[in-house]
Amino acid sequence: LLCCQRSMETQAAIDRLKNSGLLKTQGLVGGKWINAYDGKTIQVQNPATGDVIASVPYMGQNETIDAISSAYSAFSSWSKLTANGRSKIMRKWYDLIISHKEDLALLITIEQGKPFQDSLGEVAYGASFIEFFSEEAKRIYGDIIPPTTADRRLFVLKQPVGVVGAITPWNFPLAMITRKVGPALACGCTAVVKPSEYTPLTALAAAELALQAGIPPGALNIVMGNAPAIGDTLLESTKVRKITFTGSTAVGKKLMAGSASTVKKISLELGGNAPCIVFDDADLDVAVKGTLASKFRNSGQTCVCANRIFVQEGIYEKFANAFAQSVQSLQVGNGLIEGTVQGPLINEAALEKVETFVKDATSKGADVITGGRRHSLGKTFYEPTVLGNVNNEMLVYREEVFGPVAPLLRFRTEEEAIQMANDTNAGLAAYIFTTSIPRSWRVTEALEYGLVGVNEGLISTVVAPFGGFKQSGIGREGSQYGIHEYLEIKYVCLGNLGVA
Ligand code: NAD
Repeated sequence: LLCCQRSMETQAAIDRLKNSGLLKTQGLVGGKWINAYDGKTIQVQNPATGDVIASVPYMGQNETIDAISSAYSAFSSWSKLTANGRSKIMRKWYDLIISHKEDLALLITIEQGKPFQDSLGEVAYGASFIEFFSEEAKRIYGDIIPPTTADRRLFVLKQPVGVVGAITPWNFPLAMITRKVGPALACGCTAVVKPSEYTPLTALAAAELALQAGIPPGALNIVMGNAPAIGDTLLESTKVRKITFTGSTAVGKKLMAGSASTVKKISLELGGNAPCIVFDDADLDVAVKGTLASKFRNSGQTCVCANRIFVQEGIYEKFANAFAQSVQSLQVGNGLIEGTVQGPLINEAALEKVETFVKDATSKGADVITGGRRHSLGKTFYEPTVLGNVNNEMLVYREEVFGPVAPLLRFRTEEEAIQMANDTNAGLAAYIFTTSIPRSWRVTEALEYGLVGVNEGLISTVVAPFGGFKQSGIGREGSQYGIHEYLEIKYVCLGNLGVA
């Protein structure tokens, strides 16, 4: 009955995924695909159409306990495999992800909504963490410390932390998992992953490919359902040695507090409130393109999205006009339809949040330059929006809007721009547009942010560290810095060597 109610596009995608064996609808525990022990399920929907794609198990404490036990037993063998051995299996996983890139991209588009081309981009980005860390596995070196007495030798060993609990959001259903699981597996850790209940299917498909690649049973487990119950079970277990989380600041704070009882290591990638500063000496074309890409990618549902756009007085009108024109040309629609550059928001709650923020801004004096309402396509589509005359009293300034709304603010001096940019508890990404090298350097140093793009709106890459200052998080993902998050440091003193 369900299939008859689906749109043709969703049904065709489901048929293709079934044929490729990548539509997995059970959790993965100890290498076995399982249902919730009480049989409960939840539905996964296509946000563009409302179609039900599949039902997945609604799991909780008991399944999580078993997933932790499986990860714990798998740790002893996986961590003892040579780095080369782990690397080869991970490389195979990477190859399988790439050879199924279109299936995975299709899955991302139907469960998350982003346009198919962007989903292909996410698959490439997500896969790059498996490839990079498969190589990095072979470069986990220890240290030799010059001894303080002649008959001792001092060493530092780096060893995997153990079982890792990884909790991930819906906005990048593949990449947010591989950015954690890649370095974890490379170090010899094993993992229990809890993907977002909105986008579990991509996680399950990636896990199926991991099994095919030879990642041993139990090294990678996937549970989903009752998020607080799963989260608490991971937090309370003494077998779980680390929590790595990407998501909202509110949930991140809860997890940090919850990890205190077992003094667990924790990495957090939380919300941002990125400033984008356009100076009047900027190349207008570069600034418009960069800001557009940064703001509207993934319908504005990205933690590094430009959230507040500060434009210097002298260029404000010109920038606002050119920017609004580019925004009006963004084609909104179902991500499976060619030419779509902006998909829907993830759900009705996200749409209502955007509406509330826009209403709050206009009631406090902001102008709608373009957009400012639900899209005529219905469902969870919102018009790409530009607001002018924004000030620091408005929600669009104070918080992450997480939608396709670009608030513009004027500033006069460099000092004023820096002060406003840093006027937030968040500190993830920031962007500067200027043709002055000295200014770009001065401002970069003054910004309290973990990532700074100068004349670029899209800067994330596997080879660079990703993470935030202030309340945007703890730790770094990607790059050589990302691997340290999954390693323990052990100091060894070899004494009484009988050396004079
Ligand atoms: P969210 O915090 O609501 O959910 C994230 C994950 O946490 C989901 O899997 C959810 O089920 C789970 N969760 C919710 N309550 C929980 C609890 N009590 N215990 C354990 N797990 C729980 O965030 P979201 O809406 O999925 O994602 C959007 C947020 O993520 C935004 O704030 C965005 O900025 C942030 N984000 C940050 C980064 C980054 O790298 N800094 C990247 C992507 C998204």
